[in-house]
Amino acid sequence: MAKNKLNTQAEELISIQVVNSIDYSFPTGPIMGKWFQGLKEKKFYATKCPSCGRTMTPPRGCCALCVVRSEEFVEVGPKGTVENYDIAYYASPDPLTGKVRSTPYAAVFVRMDGSDCDIFTHGIKDEDIPKLKRGVRVRPVWNEVRTGCIEDMLYFEIDA
Ligand SMILES: [Zn+2]
Repeated sequence: MAKNKLNTQAEELISIQVVNSIDYSFPTGPIMGKWFQGLKEKKFYATKCPSCGRTMTPPRGCCALCVVRSEEFVEVGPKGTVENYDIAYYASPDPLTGKVRSTPYAAVFVRMDGSDCDIFTHGIKDEDIPKLKRGVRVRPVWNEVRTGCIEDMLYFEIDA
């Protein structure tokens, strides 16, 4: 039986950087459309289940527990409580640009005030990363220019 030989010479790989772009838009529908319109107006909306009364953020068109339509909107937040968080110390390259984000950065999983279930995930201000812990209160920081998209909110910051 032939013994496998470890290839110790690195083969030079050729890479070609291409940024793919597709001109595409998709309708948000009435439920997520209200959510994005709210972000444009610096508001957070939840839907309220007509059966059990729980509020869901971001809004859902159906309560998963009661399996009924939930089309009533209520405003929640703008502050919330960090339920959990994730700190990235090693960033993967962006698949579209190949650029690597500076680290560390973090995502926070926030239960908005007035929301009974579901967690809204967004970034947190870099300077607040060392102060992150479960239960810390946060508030949104808004983009000056808002167009009805997730970038309307820049990130959360600790509400001191
Ligand atoms: Zn329900």
